[in-house]
Amino acid sequence: MLKLFKKVLVLAPHTDDGEIGCGGTISKLLEKKSEVFYVAFSSAKESLKQKGLNENTLIQEVKVATQSLGIKKKNLIIFDHKLRFFTSLRQEILEDMINLKNKLKPDLVLMPSLSDIHQDHITIAQEGLRAFKNSTILAYELIWNNLNFHNTMFVKLEKKNIKAKWDALKKYKSQKTRSYMNEEFIYSLARSRGVQIGTKYAESFEVIRWVI
Ligand SMILES: [Zn+2]
Repeated sequence: MLKLFKKVLVLAPHTDDGEIGCGGTISKLLEKKSEVFYVAFSSAKESLKQKGLNENTLIQEVKVATQSLGIKKKNLIIFDHKLRFFTSLRQEILEDMINLKNKLKPDLVLMPSLSDIHQDHITIAQEGLRAFKNSTILAYELIWNNLNFHNTMFVKLEKKNIKAKWDALKKYKSQKTRSYMNEEFIYSLARSRGVQIGTKYAESFEVIRWVI
């Protein structure tokens, strides 16, 4: 079924959201020879600078992480919208997405859930729905930000896909203290979703729009 999708676009509000939400599925899509594009809408430059850190830290980490997952260097797109201010940058973000849609014409878009309570994530979900009117859209889960989540679609995964996901996430050294940047969490969520469908590992999605 994944072979249906030749061109896949992952919308990550921030660097790392895409790998956390659907890294295993990205790994499997790449195995099936889909062309995967990854766009991060913020690399948190300003907030890194304010904390006295190298403002390019997350740019460097997302490059290494997405390449580790198997995404081509040229298929990584990074915008520099201000962290936590996406709601006020809605129109610019929509225009970025429309340009991407015209250029890439993805048949599958992976994005955060419309029930995600993070202000930047919900903006990406709402504008993504507007911009990619003609594409299949699946929402990935970020459980600490999901008020609720409808597990309406599952992708069966193998251990190697979850390993590829965790190996990519480990590249975000600056984020390693986050509760979700944890090997046990990544594997146990994949096991939980697997148990729901009688397989060992899986990732779950909400079907937002399905185009056949
Ligand atoms: Zn995020």
